[in-house]
Amino acid sequence: MADNRFPLVQKLEEIAQNLWWCWQPDGWLVFRDLDPELWHKTNHNPIAFLDALSPKEIEDRAQRTAVASRIQNAHRKLRDYVDKSGPKACMSAGTLHTKPVAYFCAEFGIHESFPIYSGGLGILAGDHMKASSDLGIPIVGVGLFYPLGYFQQSIDSNGWQQEEYGRTDIETLPLTKVKNEDGRPVTIEVEVGQGTIKSHIWRAPVGRNQLLMLDSDVPGNNPEDRQLTSQLYGGDQRMRIRQEILLGIGGVRALEALDITPGVYHLNEGHSAFATFELARRYMEREELFFDEARDKVMRQTVFTTHTPVPAGHDRFPIQLFEDMLGWMRPKLKLDHRQFHGYGRIDLDDPNEPFCMTVLALKMSRYRNGVSNLHGEVSRRMWKDLWPEREVKDVPIGHITNGVHVNSFLAPEMRGLYDKYLEPGWENRLATREGWAGLGNLEPGELWETHQLLKSKLIDFINERVQNQKAPSGDKEGQVTPGSGFDQETLTIGFARRFATYKRADLLMRDMERFKKLINDAERPVQLVFAGKAHPADEYGKALIQKIVKATTDPVFEGRIVFLTDYDMNIARHMLQGVDVWLNNPRRPQEACGTSGQKVVLNGALNCSILDGWWAEAYDGRNGFAIGNGTEYADPGKQDAHDAKELYKVLENEVIPLYYDKDQTGMPREWIERVKWSIISLGWRFCASRMLLDYLNHAYLPASGATSAEM
Ligand SMILES: *Cc1c(COP(=O)(O)O)cnc(C)c1O
Repeated sequence: MADNRFPLVQKLEEIAQNLWWCWQPDGWLVFRDLDPELWHKTNHNPIAFLDALSPKEIEDRAQRTAVASRIQNAHRKLRDYVDKSGPKACMSAGTLHTKPVAYFCAEFGIHESFPIYSGGLGILAGDHMKASSDLGIPIVGVGLFYPLGYFQQSIDSNGWQQEEYGRTDIETLPLTKVKNEDGRPVTIEVEVGQGTIKSHIWRAPVGRNQLLMLDSDVPGNNPEDRQLTSQLYGGDQRMRIRQEILLGIGGVRALEALDITPGVYHLNEGHSAFATFELARRYMEREELFFDEARDKVMRQTVFTTHTPVPAGHDRFPIQLFEDMLGWMRPKLKLDHRQFHGYGRIDLDDPNEPFCMTVLALKMSRYRNGVSNLHGEVSRRMWKDLWPEREVKDVPIGHITNGVHVNSFLAPEMRGLYDKYLEPGWENRLATREGWAGLGNLEPGELWETHQLLKSKLIDFINERVQNQKAPSGDKEGQVTPGSGFDQETLTIGFARRFATYKRADLLMRDMERFKKLINDAERPVQLVFAGKAHPADEYGKALIQKIVKATTDPVFEGRIVFLTDYDMNIARHMLQGVDVWLNNPRRPQEACGTSGQKVVLNGALNCSILDGWWAEAYDGRNGFAIGNGTEYADPGKQDAHDAKELYKVLENEVIPLYYDKDQTGMPREWIERVKWSIISLGWRFCASRMLLDYLNHAYLPASGATSAEM
């Protein structure tokens, strides 16, 4: 491995072992520029990339392509980054330096080469880890390692989604197995049902912080248990509750085994809420406390973020299943059945009420939040029965609006403009309005040129993808995708997200005649790019995909509609860096926040969205477009009909005319002004640094005991 004859290779290997490389252009660009083809082929995985070349080849190539000095530079930057504690914020992180935040989440989306995420929740958790590292806020991520990850999507000849799972080669990930002094893997044991499940712990460096992942594929476990962590959101309820016991209880035990004493436990979504039972059990045992005393201690330390107002998004387990799997915990907590089950119930006396993880998390935490202003409101209404003595407005659930990690989603070409127009060190001032103000001086022509370049890259990407989209195995034909008819001058709208019902991917197609007219207008046509996966059990979501895939092959549209299969972070980056407009039309108020539109802002495109989630607090009349005015109907059919009309209206009357209103030089002046205003007015408010500082000040520091927490 370490071979002194190849100093550059050694440096590259070091860079590849810290996920920092994936959000630092100085990091990943050196790999790409050594061999763009291979970089692409290895799915942007630096370890697989280095494995594919001989050290001598890499060394020669680095010298020949003048990447050598950039490797030195990237390596120095990484060392500096990791060695120095962060800028300002870390000073105020206080006791978190000795007692960090333990951040529990079922998925982490850090990079496409590390596929243990499915969607928004995971990407958000990845952004949380990255931004906390940048700011010097000590956080330890706690999750599960899924060797099969989430499924890979392909489309069969009927336009129907097919799912396949491919095993990730652990050797190509920056993971080390946590070992004891004697060199043997640290093994965590968790009682589940009648047995005990063993797990090992993987560690991945994420900048200055680390992510720990439990893996039950361990000798000594029975076959079912070895498979337990194999895939994300697969299997049935039994598998799900077992995974969640491992995540919550195993996570607490893993931290302890590593001598990490968190000051704060942040449950990001309810999946990990069993952690609170384990903490209470431990306090009772070690400090000889009564349950109520132990619970109060746990509550003070616990921060809970809820992520969806959609009822099906909250795990609810039949009481018998809960009892079968976690019954062993009850005597240890010295609770009777009613009390024990009651921690997951709204009505303690309803024997039919299942055990809800969100209820447990709400009951066992002191700081609770939704992920946008509107979602905070909706959550207070949704959970008011847990605080029957309070008015809805006084239900103790606040909000911290999500934000995105700028370095991860900003295109290098746009970054060039940021570097030019902002003061050096702008990356350290992301959470301030002043930090972004310099972009007000952006020269319109320069901004437009940059956007056009990114758009042409997207079109190239689309053309390449649609030609190479894989058919499902066993389906010789697969979906035949005609080549895209995408054109540089045509208004390009992007839509990519999970194909959940409430997101209404087909809203634009409700009135087919109007839709055709819109797409095929002779003077002012529109082209549409879609991507997204439906959950394997969601037939309705799959039907939505089918509907869109059918449209892509309909000759009427002349290739102006495409569907990119197997949506991941790579496709996301291309799309949101290259489209003109990002479309978001959920059924209000079901989109808790939504973050993809925030990534679009950074890259110079405009949002066209229902006033839901973050957009309800972001839209100001000129930083993008609103579909309707936030009207809600109790009847979803009425809501959809109303919103579809509003969507056509805003496209026909505002978006399309403004985009095509070009001056003699071919530039849409008004449009560009809107883009500029979108970046300046929104970038600082909806970035992950702002989000992290909010968590630090409102949640973490109070929970760590720095100031008294509000009840
Ligand atoms: C940002 C992102 C999401 C979340 O976007 P939403 O707007 O919340 O749907 C999902 N998947 C990927 C790959 C992303 O990059």
